[in-house]
Amino acid sequence: MKIVDLRSDTITLPTREMMEAVQEAELGDDVFGEDPTMNKLEKMAASRMGKEKALFVTSGTQGNVVSMLTHTHHGDEVIMEAQSHVFLYEVGAMAALGGLMAHPVPGHNGVLRPEDVETAIRGENIHFPKTQLLCVENTHNNAGGIAVTPQEMKALAAVVKPRGIRMHLDGARVFNAAIALNTDVKNLTKEADSVMFCLSKGLSAPVGSMVCGSEAYIERARKVRKMLGGGMRQAGILAACGIVALEKMVDRLREDHANARALAEGLAEMKGISIDMEKVQTNILVFDVSGLGGSQKVVSELEKKGVRCLPRDETHIRMVTNRMVSAEDIDRALEKIREVLL
Ligand SMILES: *Cc1c(COP(=O)(O)O)cnc(C)c1O
Repeated sequence: MKIVDLRSDTITLPTREMMEAVQEAELGDDVFGEDPTMNKLEKMAASRMGKEKALFVTSGTQGNVVSMLTHTHHGDEVIMEAQSHVFLYEVGAMAALGGLMAHPVPGHNGVLRPEDVETAIRGENIHFPKTQLLCVENTHNNAGGIAVTPQEMKALAAVVKPRGIRMHLDGARVFNAAIALNTDVKNLTKEADSVMFCLSKGLSAPVGSMVCGSEAYIERARKVRKMLGGGMRQAGILAACGIVALEKMVDRLREDHANARALAEGLAEMKGISIDMEKVQTNILVFDVSGLGGSQKVVSELEKKGVRCLPRDETHIRMVTNRMVSAEDIDRALEKIREVLL
C-alpha cells in the first residue's frame, strides 16, 4: 500500500544530489574551524539571512537554546508567544539549561501584538526579573504555518529595541514564510538579533539547523554550542547536504504550498471538517474534526488507509505537505479521507 505521509516535513529524505555531495565533500576538524565544507555552508547561510556570521547546530531545538543562552543570564525573562515551539516543545530547555523564566503571551493566529508585548515587559522594580529577550516564531507552527510579515516584525522590534531587549527569530520554516509573502527572507530577519532556521525540514537535509547573527554573537554562540556537546568534527558531511538544501531546495517549497492549498480546498468541501482557508498560507494545515468524533479516531482510521497525519489536540488534526508527497498523492489522500468520512 502506498503511504501518503503528512505527519511532518521532517520526514523528507536527503536527495540524491545531497548524497553525491557527501561523497565529494572536503573535510576537516570543524572544532578547529578547519572543515572547508562547513565554513562554506556557514558563509552561505549568513549571507542568505543578511547576518555577519552563522553557526551549524544539530537541531532547531539546539539552535534555539544556544541562541537563548547566548543572549541571556540566569534569572532573565524571555517573552514568547503562548503556543510557540520554544515554550511548548523544547523540553523546558530554557529553564533547565539557561535558568530562564518563560513569559508566554497569547498572540492572534500565532502573531504577537506589539501592545501585548509592551504590557508584558518588566519595568525597573526591585521585585522583577529582567526582560532580556523576545522570541518570535515564523512561520508559526501551531497556528498552522502562519507567516509573520516584515511589518509585524518591525512593529515588534519598535517595542523591544528601545528598551535594550534582544529579539530572536525561531525561523525553523522562515523560507516558507518568505515564499508565502513573496519577499526576500532578509526582510523577515532584518529586525532580529539572531535567527535560527532548519535545513532538515522542507529543505530535506538529513540533519541540522543554522544560527545566524553578528560576528561577536556567533563567536559566543559557538562556545555555548560546545558546552552543550554540539561541537562536531568532520561535520562537512552534514554541511554538504546543507549547501544543496540552500542552493536547490528553497524555491521548490512553493510546490509544498500549492499542495497544501489543494489539500485544504478538498478538505473544505467535506462534511464534518472545518478549515479556515485564510490560515492556509504555507505547508501546514490545521483543521477541526470535532464533528467526526475527535482527532485521534480520524487519525487512526486514516492510518489504516495509508494516510499518515498527527492529532494537534483533541479536536484538530495537523497535516504538513513536503517533498515526499506529490500532487497525485494529495488527490489520493483526499480520496482516502472521503472514504473515512463515509
Ligand atoms: C521543528 C521546529 C523547531 C525545532 O527543530 P528540531 O530540529 O525538531 O529540534 C523549532 N521551532 C519550530 C517553529 C519548529 O517547527
